Amino acid sequence: MQQITVGQGWALEIFGAGATPGAGTPGLPRWIPAESEYLPARLRRINVADVDAHACDLVAAWPKGVPVPDPDRAATWTDDDLAGVLLVHPREGFRCRVCGGRVNALYPDGGLPSWGGRHRYATHCPLCGSHVDQARLHALALFAP
Ligand SMILES: [Zn+2]
Repeated sequence: MQQITVGQGWALEIFGAGATPGAGTPGLPRWIPAESEYLPARLRRINVADVDAHACDLVAAWPKGVPVPDPDRAATWTDDDLAGVLLVHPREGFRCRVCGGRVNALYPDGGLPSWGGRHRYATHCPLCGSHVDQARLHALALFAP
């Protein structure tokens, strides 16, 4: 696990993809493929009395083609290891307006920190192939359940 201070008063923790959910680690939702550009992350306040009440489990997304550094390596990460990272929310049960099916999504949030990078957003419903404009499914990535 790596921990990097973000701005003033926040810590970002990045865990290995194989981290077991629970036991203090968020883990990845099981609908996210292993060996991908996504790692489990937790953003939390520091220097507050109840740190668990000020934590948010997220997914750290690297742009496709950018090597994902190993969070379990001994050397401490620097900001360079986060180059291109976008923090996103894992969300389940979005409904496609074309086929009516429900899909899971990695959903960006402009209020979360990011480290630049050129991300390619989802373009089609993973169930029926409709364009996201017709499907009304706008997200970084979409997954069949
Ligand atoms: Zn669809």
